[in-house]
Amino acid sequence: MKAVSQYGPITLVGFSDKPTLYRMILPQRGDVYVKCGADILLNGLKTDLGAEARCPVCRYVTRFHIVKRRVEDLAPKNPMLHVVELGMGAGHVGVECESTHIFDKKDCLTKWLSTYTGKQGLVLSLPEYMGSLNQRLPTKYHEQEHHSITTTQSGSRVLEDRKANHDQL
Ligand SMILES: [Zn+2]
Repeated sequence: MKAVSQYGPITLVGFSDKPTLYRMILPQRGDVYVKCGADILLNGLKTDLGAEARCPVCRYVTRFHIVKRRVEDLAPKNPMLHVVELGMGAGHVGVECESTHIFDKKDCLTKWLSTYTGKQGLVLSLPEYMGSLNQRLPTKYHEQEHHSITTTQSGSRVLEDRKANHDQL
């Protein structure tokens, strides 16, 4: 059974009361540890957050944000995710935590895979996996996202108009 914790109206996925390799920084809560790399992205479907993922091989920390169900500000740029999914239930994806990690670079993933004997998983970038989750798990937050994208777009249109005016001058 997975431990859960409430964050406002949201039930956090993979909550751990002990420090792990995977830490989320929640705006109204502070630091929360989760059990595996995919848990960060799964929680990111429901709320914006900051994240730190420590590579299980070299211990280097990958940092990023999830804003409106998108991965942003990745540092370093190309971390890799290895994820073993256990299938989907209604509205959720199950993952096998021991086999699901975020690696700061491909070399570390390759090294880790060379001794890995578990179930074969998917290897992909964080934005790719986030995109895949977005497609499979639409939520109410998604509707809000559309709403704010519209707002942002009209905002940037104003900026472009201004720029156009400027160019004419
Ligand atoms: Zn590493």
